Amino acid sequence: MIEQRAKSVINAVPGMPFSWSINPYRGCYHQCRFCYARRTHTFLEEDGVGRWGSRIYVKVNAPAVVRGEVARNRKIRHVAIGTATDPYQPLEGRYRVTRGILEALRDHGVSAGIITRSPLVVRDIDVLRVLARVAGASVSVSVATMDAALARDIEPTVAPPAQRMRAVRMLADAGITVHVALAPVLPQITDAPAQIDAVVRAAQEAGAARVWHNALNLHDITRDAFFGYLRERNPELIASYAALYRGRYAPQTVADEIDARVASARARFPAQPVERIRSCAPTQLSLV
Ligand code: SF4
Repeated sequence: MIEQRAKSVINAVPGMPFSWSINPYRGCYHQCRFCYARRTHTFLEEDGVGRWGSRIYVKVNAPAVVRGEVARNRKIRHVAIGTATDPYQPLEGRYRVTRGILEALRDHGVSAGIITRSPLVVRDIDVLRVLARVAGASVSVSVATMDAALARDIEPTVAPPAQRMRAVRMLADAGITVHVALAPVLPQITDAPAQIDAVVRAAQEAGAARVWHNALNLHDITRDAFFGYLRERNPELIASYAALYRGRYAPQTVADEIDARVASARARFPAQPVERIRSCAPTQLSLV
């Protein structure tokens, strides 16, 4: 772990649904085998396959930097947090960088959309509830499969899927708009209709306002990391993955089939969007 004093923290993001992003850390303890953010390590000449989970940079001064940036640039009205790292990976328990950033955004009336695989996000429900009221806040909790053993294989140090769904329930009950990101969907590994149904149904039962998804893309060094996983755990799939992923994306027919399966699951287990900001009793922040 390396403490770092960042000069700037908010990134302008062209060509995406959001215009600004914040990544409180660089690197991620969770070491998901499919992680597309691994390539950001190579920008620092770090090994994005072997050291993605062990050389983690902590932007310790990020909350103060964010305060300055949003005060200076009034065009920043919304930021996406965690597009290239998990903002609630274990180091956040100690450093509270993400929490400090949320407090800065709250104080300046800037809305936030968080993406995480970690139930630790419920620690910050108190800040998120205020931010939701003053500017807007939403959380996407990523769950690739409800199969705990498979999840351990592909997301080795992330909390089990059921625990993540409990976090979804707690966020929803606290009045925070919460989505489940069924992401990424891995062809031939997590894309069976029953597997997709299980995530969408669990999201519905947990009170998620929406389930969104995307299919695996194997860009750059993510390909090395993912084929390493296949060699270790699913060698019988190497040939078919090599055929499917001649480029960064699987063929359109595969993506279309995944879209259709998710659409079918959503139709059978529809989310119930609810504007939940309400003055409810304090939520018990238990992760167990
Ligand atoms: S939690 Fe997200 S950023 Fe971290 S390794 Fe997994 S996919 Fe990558």
